[in-house]
Amino acid sequence: MAAQSFLLAATAAARSPAVFAAPYSSARPFHSVHFVAGPWGAAAARALVVADATKKAVAVLKGASEVEGVVTLTQDDDGPTTVNVRITGLTPGLHGFHLHEFGDTTNGCISTGPHFNPNNLTHGAPEDEVRHAGDLGNIVANAEGIAEATIVDTQIPLTGPNSVVGRAFVVHELEDDLGKGGHELSLSTGNAGGRLACGMFILLYLW
Ligand SMILES: [Zn+2]
Repeated sequence: MAAQSFLLAATAAARSPAVFAAPYSSARPFHSVHFVAGPWGAAAARALVVADATKKAVAVLKGASEVEGVVTLTQDDDGPTTVNVRITGLTPGLHGFHLHEFGDTTNGCISTGPHFNPNNLTHGAPEDEVRHAGDLGNIVANAEGIAEATIVDTQIPLTGPNSVVGRAFVVHELEDDLGKGGHELSLSTGNAGGRLACGMFILLYLW
């Protein structure tokens, strides 16, 4: 009997756990190759999962004023995203800080569109259930106009359909009222005023 035809049979059997033991029990050397191919495949799959465990993205924020900064995001596996922010040139106090839908800055920060809102909800605070995915609340500038913050959020992943990559962070002129200010813009923009600086996220590395 041709070994080739038996090999094909063994390969077909390997797809069905119920009959997988049959070729193995006939104990010929090449059958064992099929037996261990499964575990090797599984190990390779696990290695790939580990390989893309940590992701990092960065955006350099610039605008028409002297406000500028850098926002760095890191995410392990499918866990929360850690946002590290350093922005300078601000007026002291609170400034709305959001992920906007588009990475487009051809017309300045206005081209970045509205807050990133894949679930079509109204504007809110980062801790609210009803919020835009892009709603990260406010950052606080000190007396020197420098805002530094570390924010951890679950709605701004670095990969997948709701990825931040190709979208832009925007820092605003005014405080975000988190949807609770009663202004006509509260439920869309938090009435956070003009867009001082913005920048699109690029994926730095994936390993
Ligand atoms: Zn919003």
